[in-house]
Amino acid sequence: MEPAAPAEAPVEAPSEAPPPVAPDGTLHLLWVNAGLSCDGDSVALTAATNPSVEELVGGAFPDVPRLEVHWPILAFPTGPAGGSDDFLEAFHRAVRDELGPFVLVVEGSVPNERIKDEGCWAGFGSDPETGQPIPTCDWIDRLAPRALAVLAVGTCATYGGIPAMQNNPTGAMGLPDYLGWDWTSRAGVPVVCVPGCPIQPDNVSEVILYLLYQLSGQAPMIPLDGALRPEWQFGPTAHQGCDRAGYYEEGIFARAHGEPECVVKLGCWGPVVHCNVPKRGWINGIGGCPNVGGICIACTMPGFPDRFQPFMDPPPGAAVSTAGSGIYGTVIRGLRRLSEGIFDDEPRWRVPGDELRSGYVPPWRDGGGTATSGAVPVELDGERHRRADPDPTG
Ligand code: SF4
Ligand code: SF4
Repeated sequence: MEPAAPAEAPVEAPSEAPPPVAPDGTLHLLWVNAGLSCDGDSVALTAATNPSVEELVGGAFPDVPRLEVHWPILAFPTGPAGGSDDFLEAFHRAVRDELGPFVLVVEGSVPNERIKDEGCWAGFGSDPETGQPIPTCDWIDRLAPRALAVLAVGTCATYGGIPAMQNNPTGAMGLPDYLGWDWTSRAGVPVVCVPGCPIQPDNVSEVILYLLYQLSGQAPMIPLDGALRPEWQFGPTAHQGCDRAGYYEEGIFARAHGEPECVVKLGCWGPVVHCNVPKRGWINGIGGCPNVGGICIACTMPGFPDRFQPFMDPPPGAAVSTAGSGIYGTVIRGLRRLSEGIFDDEPRWRVPGDELRSGYVPPWRDGGGTATSGAVPVELDGERHRRADPDPTG
């Protein structure tokens, strides 16, 4: 199959910096899921809760532009190619500078026929004139220079991911590798990368909301780290937010899957992986790989997957770090058990002890041997019990 010649003659993109989108205006979101991927990021985003997709498209946030989404997984137009109800029409209009301000979202690794011309690897819709698929690279070439911001969603789109593994035949790569790591949009925004295989849903919905504020002039430039990830999401490591980090610190490690302790010896990369999933959970705060027993395979990292395989082997540094925390943990555990013995107890002035001196008589203790007052008969299982002898010595 031959890649199509561009239907739209490449029009020079506007070069001047655009004004902020009016808070009562409309911002379009053009989602190209035509990279090499499983569409898992689109599926994951439907589970976002904070904010949810419904809140984003339903105008739940005051004072930000209305978001109009052109996303294959949530598409209402179903008309014929080239018709006014055609899903792709918005994309064609964007290329012709007729759509209005928009953010381009790319999902999937970018296959590149220019360096791997043995095939046509992925496309998005067909050229109405030739009937041939429009390659993914052509869409990026046409839309990226016109977008106010470009968002790469998922590890395939950000860094290449699984389709870009060594020896892949497609030339697949992440968006910053394709556009250049120093690329900026018309509005001066670098490529925003939200990695994950798949993405943590709220990470993406939150970034979309942030861009709505930023592009309408109500928030500063989105803070990104050296791998173009939002700093507030990808600063801490998975290990720092993990429910099992207390076991790691005390040197207690699972030997088999299903055990509740730290799974680093089973292959967890959490201590060196920038990811907020253990802290944030997967859906509505629930789950999060190592929290629920899965090893962290470093899916948010630019080197994933090649640099982290084979997945089930302990990471190279794990032997040293677990030996260290094993020694430290043995000492600290001993001290903590000692402290527990002292502090897991009521203070003496609350009169703790085996002898019951409160006046309460357990119903199974016929005669109320230790009670000192208040003889009240109680009925239990058909037997009559006397609650206390007013004078146990008499
Ligand atoms: S399971 Fe992984 S992330 Fe959690 S404490 Fe252990 S090494 Fe760290
Ligand atoms: S905890 Fe590890 S495997 Fe899970 S999403 Fe984060 S980086 Fe990926």
